[in-house]
Amino acid sequence: MGPTLFDLAGKVALVTGGSKGIGLGMAEALGKSGATVAIASRGKEDLIKAERELKEKGITVKGFQVDVTNKQKVEQLIEDVVTEFSHIDILINNAGTNIRKPLVEVKEEDWDFVMGTNLKGIFLTGQAVAKQLIKQGEGGKIINISSIFGATGMSNQTSYSASKGGINQLTKVWADELAPHGIQVNAIGPGYIKTPMTADWLSDQERLKSIVDKTMIGRIGTLEDLAGPVVFLSSASSSYVTGQILYVDGGWTAK
Ligand code: NAP
Repeated sequence: MGPTLFDLAGKVALVTGGSKGIGLGMAEALGKSGATVAIASRGKEDLIKAERELKEKGITVKGFQVDVTNKQKVEQLIEDVVTEFSHIDILINNAGTNIRKPLVEVKEEDWDFVMGTNLKGIFLTGQAVAKQLIKQGEGGKIINISSIFGATGMSNQTSYSASKGGINQLTKVWADELAPHGIQVNAIGPGYIKTPMTADWLSDQERLKSIVDKTMIGRIGTLEDLAGPVVFLSSASSSYVTGQILYVDGGWTAK
């Protein structure tokens, strides 16, 4: 107990979408708790920059290029991470995207793009990591990154909300299937956090005010607000927690 309660020394964490925003913040939190971190995303320049930033903070990290919508590339990623670090213990299934439009303007390709990244990508990565964790036989942790929009509705979020609702459901299914293997599967549902995904959207002061008003705490979230929750769900402290969606949203979903 005590300092070892959230200790991740000796653990290897794979963070998809780890080059920016929430993924990068979570990679830092896990690394500072002792985990070795693999970050994975498409853009090489951002990966190199993120890798450098994390190394400067004393974290053991390597960047891997992947498109999570491509099954073959995802399977190759898992193989490459295992070759580099010998095992995987924690998956932060985070890579995601959004196209905000009213229902009547959503194009078929918008729907396919958002669902492809947020739902198929989560499925492909979760499946490949689950196979690896089962093979290793030592349990593990899968944390899917959902959203307040997995539970609540808001204009302009047709495909995004559908994808996040799907993530909540597959979190529960995987938790049940993987429990006999000692693998806990949970999700984190963040409220609004300022990242490259949301910066433009939140720059409208009127919109920002209406978003802040929907929280109980009276502000949007920060990357630091997500650090404790992700470390908790990645650590032995959460060994009796599975199939849960932990909303880190300043009270949004409870209001
Ligand atoms: P972000 O700043 O846009 O970062 C997204 C990350 O995912 C980047 O590293 C991006 O890198 C990667 N990515 C996107 N598509 C990918 C693909 N096909 N294959 C591999 N990597 C891909 O977004 P964020 O705000 O940090 O969001 C991260 C997650 O948190 C998402 O699932 C999002 O839905 C969720 N979330 C965000 C908020 C918020 O307010 N920001 C709130 C709730 C939930 P490349 O583009 O280089 O691939």
